[in-house]
Amino acid sequence: MTFDIVIAGTGPAGLMTAQRGARAGLRTVVLEKGACVTDSLMGELVTDKALRLLRIRPDSEYVGNKYSAIVGESLDTGANIVVDRNLLGSSYLLDEDLCQLLMRDRAVADGAEFRYNAHVQSVVRDNGSVVGVRYNGGEEVRAPLTVGADGSFSRVSDTAGFTRPKWLLSYGVRWKLAGCKGVDPDVAYFYVGRDVGLGYLWMYPRSETEVNLGIGRVPTTRSKQAQLPSMMDVLAKYKKVIPGLEPARVVAKNGGVVPCAGLIPRFTDAGVALCGNSAGQVSSIVGGGVTTCLHAGTLLAKHAVRATEEDDFSRESIRRYESEYRKTHLARNIQQTGKGMWAVAKYSMLNDPLKAAETVLSTLDARTLNALIQGTAGVGEMFTLFTDFLPTVVRIGLGYLKSIAVTGL
Ligand SMILES: Cc1cc2nc3c(=O)[nH]c(=O)nc-3n(C[C@H](O)[C@H](O)[C@H](O)COP(=O)(O)OP(=O)(O)OC[C@H]3O[C@@H](n4cnc5c(N)ncnc54)[C@H](O)[C@@H]3O)c2cc1C
Repeated sequence: MTFDIVIAGTGPAGLMTAQRGARAGLRTVVLEKGACVTDSLMGELVTDKALRLLRIRPDSEYVGNKYSAIVGESLDTGANIVVDRNLLGSSYLLDEDLCQLLMRDRAVADGAEFRYNAHVQSVVRDNGSVVGVRYNGGEEVRAPLTVGADGSFSRVSDTAGFTRPKWLLSYGVRWKLAGCKGVDPDVAYFYVGRDVGLGYLWMYPRSETEVNLGIGRVPTTRSKQAQLPSMMDVLAKYKKVIPGLEPARVVAKNGGVVPCAGLIPRFTDAGVALCGNSAGQVSSIVGGGVTTCLHAGTLLAKHAVRATEEDDFSRESIRRYESEYRKTHLARNIQQTGKGMWAVAKYSMLNDPLKAAETVLSTLDARTLNALIQGTAGVGEMFTLFTDFLPTVVRIGLGYLKSIAVTGL
């Protein structure tokens, strides 16, 4: 069988590229090292943009819940900030398993082939171009375009010669709980605190009785890391503390790694493109990657179709996907929040980030905080920040300057 495109990975990035590519007529093969598509963790809190990209309705079976507010709260002091729907837009909890199956089934219906237990080891090159991948110790599949959607530790990326940031990775663990009592299903929570470290604990209810409880943490210095309880211990502790979770049982556990430094310097070359976590296409401060991966997959499929029609898989041709992607609103947000996260990580090497987080939670207004997190802060928010919160800004700014002076930029 001859293929137009070979895709490594069945997370949201790979599945969306496969679904849209196959729909447009590309002969598509997808390699997944797991036993099925739902082996991967997709993450479930998304904005309405994800629903539009998936072409699913908010009231369909693919959507588990819709929130009216998101609360940021300190586990240590209880200080909190409420971001309601006016600021937030609409936030949903996906049913990730059903969504993954939906994308796979759509791709299969349009002729895509899925190979499971297929562990990609390296790209295959011919005359300087990537022409496919090698997997499972000796098998090969070839196509004029190879897509590395194989996550944060992408083999396609490593062997095609792209550079990935070796730090600013967020490590996350998620439990699915059933049998909770009296949880408010309309509100999702993000918690910061001493036990969490640089990151947050989250609680996303699916209903009054079902909840996703998770933690994501960016390691800073080794000594600071050693002082923190393990992420499993933090989940176990707060399952007892957060109202309504104590009687619940853990019905599923999963985990993964998310890049937080923004887009990597280059993610296309002759015959090859990266998509999703492998390219750093994640909203850095909150570690949200599902919407951004679906968006990137959609764009990549469009360019894969164009390159196939033009029969041009040169570096310049494939780079048009990267150029168009970098100009999008989501890509600019990723870059902005990546810089913000980089600054936060630097700051926390020599300062106490939780003191700063406490100050932010107790003094900043929800609108400004939301704009900073989303990377959309404009002149108005910056002006508010500098006029209304000058002492906070100066205190945090001085700490940041100290870190740069000691550790270098
Ligand atoms: C605990 C946790 C919670 C999260 N929650 C959210 C959330 O609520 N909302 C949100 O938007 N984002 C969330 N995220 C982030 C989001 O899940 C990721 O950004 C997103 O899944 C990345 O998609 P991807 O397709 O690039 O890669 P992945 O989802 O990582 O998928 C990569 C796929 O490639 C496969 N693979 C890897 N290596 C190989 C190989 N060598 N050969 C073949 N196959 C391979 C893997 O098995 C996997 O199926 C969360 C992440 C974590 C870790």
